[in-house]
Amino acid sequence: MARKRLVKLNCPACKKPAESTNPDFPFCSERCRLIDLGKWASGGYVISSPTQDVSDSAPDHGSSEEE
Ligand SMILES: [Zn+2]
Repeated sequence: MARKRLVKLNCPACKKPAESTNPDFPFCSERCRLIDLGKWASGGYVISSPTQDVSDSAPDHGSSEEE
């Protein structure tokens, strides 16, 4: 029943095919996994916090009538 499905993806680091049976999936190897981690750590650390400002996208309910 719980059959492992083989999924293939391209390694995000080196674009080589990686298989889901690999413990480092979706990377092809531990090396690539570490490379990617390093990129994140040194790449400026750009994390945009998901701001869910409702007031920004919600239509005006006629409460603010200034201009
Ligand atoms: Zn790789």
